Amino acid sequence: MSQFTFDTIGIIRSPYKEKFAIPRQPGLIDDGGGTLELLPPYNHAEAVRGLDAFSHLWVIFVFHQTMQAGWKPTVRPPRLGGNARMGVFATRSTFRPNPIGMSLVELKAINVRAGQVHLELGSLDLVDGTPVLDIKPYLPFAESHPEARAGFAQQAPNAAMPVIFSALAQSQIEQNQRRYPHLARFIRQVLAQDPRPAYRKEETIDRIYAVHLLDFNVRWQISEGVTEVLDLNQS
Ligand code: SAM
Repeated sequence: MSQFTFDTIGIIRSPYKEKFAIPRQPGLIDDGGGTLELLPPYNHAEAVRGLDAFSHLWVIFVFHQTMQAGWKPTVRPPRLGGNARMGVFATRSTFRPNPIGMSLVELKAINVRAGQVHLELGSLDLVDGTPVLDIKPYLPFAESHPEARAGFAQQAPNAAMPVIFSALAQSQIEQNQRRYPHLARFIRQVLAQDPRPAYRKEETIDRIYAVHLLDFNVRWQISEGVTEVLDLNQS
């Protein structure tokens, strides 16, 4: 047997509505949590019995938004400035022979009601709509190795870009305070990672960038090493 077919057991609901600007791994920022909605016939209370005793889960999913592009033996990790090549299996690139990803996420709650099973998850690195193939409880006794060597990714990526808000953005955040109490922190932490592609970071023009987060189109500009959030309009 060399080919297999797997079923989607659930779908991720995430505040990231497009791939751009999503953190490169889970848990890198405080916010950005979401929900795993289990699909029939897997949305069974019995299927998650005992899972609430675990604080973290492995979510095994399909890189469905990049899978059409296929794969190459080497890739250019953004971490290395987009220039140096590494073997695909030495990276977490989305462009893999089998487009499967795995994210270790916090399990905050399990909500079971009226035939629905929803797992509330902490800080994600997944786009809204990501199909999930499996979940497994995280076993720290076997899976935690803080002393492990991690090649070019030994440290968390730099997320030190200063972020300020225009007066307009500030007032738009205040208007949405009740619905999204941590909106400013969320946007700040996402943009502090400087999600621009490496080749854009060389540019000298102050280009305007935009990304769809939650139900906002967030626009920002970078000038002299500082990100200014220009506005966030309901999308
Ligand atoms: N933690 C996983 C892993 O190591 O397998 C994913 C790491 S991958 C570098 C994370 C990036 O994948 C995100 O920043 C986002 O750009 C992209 N991404 C997230 N969900 C995706 C999806 N469903 N299809 C394609 N790309 C996705």
